[in-house]
Amino acid sequence: MFANKNHAGSRCARCHNLLKEEDSAEYREDAWYHKTCWDEGVRQLNTAMKRAAEIARRFALPRVSTPHSEADHTNSS
Ligand SMILES: [Zn+2]
Repeated sequence: MFANKNHAGSRCARCHNLLKEEDSAEYREDAWYHKTCWDEGVRQLNTAMKRAAEIARRFALPRVSTPHSEADHTNSS
């Protein structure tokens, strides 16, 4: 799919190391990546999106009543 572009001499957009001709590389979003670097980025993004979805679910729970609603009448004197 992207195999016809020559990546040798370019730098990986993730690890910034030079890509060698024998490296398995991916051209994505106008930049070269080692295949392993791209795959690791995809894995990290998927993990981050799962965690973000968990947080969104947690904060989307119905609100509990505020603790001040009945305590304001308390007088200690
Ligand atoms: Zn890399």
